[in-house]
Amino acid sequence: MIGSGDLRELYQEVIFDHNRRPRNFHAMEEATHQADGHNPLCGDQLTVYARVSDGKVEEVSFIGHGCAISTASASLMTEAVKGRPVEEVESLFEDMHAMLTEAHPDRDMGKLEVLSGVREFPARVKCATLAWHTLHNAITEARETAKTE
Ligand code: ZN
Repeated sequence: MIGSGDLRELYQEVIFDHNRRPRNFHAMEEATHQADGHNPLCGDQLTVYARVSDGKVEEVSFIGHGCAISTASASLMTEAVKGRPVEEVESLFEDMHAMLTEAHPDRDMGKLEVLSGVREFPARVKCATLAWHTLHNAITEARETAKTE
């Protein structure tokens, strides 16, 4: 049986790993969407890139600098949303926000679960949600721009 202490340790290990070696950490020239995110409370700053085609997030990447939580969360996000339809990414964004601020969502959050402990530290919630808000802005903004054409 796995105790909650062991689980917490496992979660922290995953967060440390994603902070040390962030996945999809690069700028993207062929991005169709991009946005900057800034969390002044902590100083986290990042740019999220996405290549969307046929309503699907084909590629996603990020650059920037910030605390371990913001970097790990962005890295985990890129892995979680890659290849998913935009609507699914948006609903995952909502569930992620719920997981970090209210109660746990019904759905299995998979690897994103490792960030659920952040809920106990309200000051760090913005660090964990920054990448998601930024991706959300990137995706919705470009869609609005496309509408006016
Ligand atoms: Zn932070």
